[in-house]
Amino acid sequence: MQTFQFVAVEEAKNAIEKLAAAEQSRYLAGGTTLVDLMKIYVETPDQLVDIQHLPLSEIKVLDDRVEIGAMVRNSDLADHSYIKQHYPVLSEALLSGATPQIRNMASVGGNLLQRTRCTYFRDIAWPCNKREPGAGCAAIDGHNRMHALLGTSDKCIATHPSDMCVAMMALDAVIQTLSSDGGRQIPIQEFYVAYGDDPAKENVLEPGELITGVTLPKLQNAAKSHYLKVRDRAAFEFALASAAVVLDLKGKDIVTARIALGGVAAKPWRSLEAEHYLVGKSVSEATFKAAAVEALKAAKPQKDNAFKIELARRTLVRALQNAAEIPS
Ligand code: SF4
Repeated sequence: MQTFQFVAVEEAKNAIEKLAAAEQSRYLAGGTTLVDLMKIYVETPDQLVDIQHLPLSEIKVLDDRVEIGAMVRNSDLADHSYIKQHYPVLSEALLSGATPQIRNMASVGGNLLQRTRCTYFRDIAWPCNKREPGAGCAAIDGHNRMHALLGTSDKCIATHPSDMCVAMMALDAVIQTLSSDGGRQIPIQEFYVAYGDDPAKENVLEPGELITGVTLPKLQNAAKSHYLKVRDRAAFEFALASAAVVLDLKGKDIVTARIALGGVAAKPWRSLEAEHYLVGKSVSEATFKAAAVEALKAAKPQKDNAFKIELARRTLVRALQNAAEIPS
């Protein structure tokens, strides 16, 4: 690991000032992504600004929303009684990720900024446009079984690895940030960017902008929600395909549907096509199967990952059946 300066701060304003003081500076939250990448020289900051002691570790349940501090640990959010009862999709997504030890360290803000698990990105011997813009992409002609079907470009086909973010996408989360210009609120659908020509640019954060928290709007029937993840082994593994669904039902009729996919796209993937298909229809296996076809219509498979199209469809159908509590 390359040597670096370590600065601990206790106020958000101070963190932003310290970060700006060094050229290659990073915020350090739980460190479960950043420190890994530093050990393998994918990240080589010359300064870390430790934000673990900022007062951002509260979960506040208010009348019209839930506010979650950026430093809330993944395990605390997953086990919070209100979240488990009213946003089961989020608790299930968090508990399906990583291991208990990692969830005890990983923060909500850090999880929003997880980097891809593309093996070529994590090995500096290979060309990677995300790590080194303009270098090329080893995955396009390499082993790409785990790679993305949606939101890719001819520069990068990596998947976004997070489970939590897929649930937050289906819950219409809003991300709070702070910078030297003040604060702003970014709806999660506008937070992640498509790869396009620059895969190194993954979100709309400006240099030095600090995530301070996430707000979840209250959803009338959010208890009818579910996260389903399919992976190669039962624990400590990233998704081949996952689905987060939130249904508002009146009897058997679908009033609103929110659907996001994980493991198959360059970013947590909201499927408005599937949602539009579902609204106004009655819950049934046939309806859910047709919605799943809509969700994967734009899929562009690589040489090793075409199987993910059918896998993602089936994952979504099963997640919808579970949320709607109809037999599968
Ligand atoms: Fe890099 Fe993206 Fe290609 Fe992986 S898929 S090697 S992250 S450019």
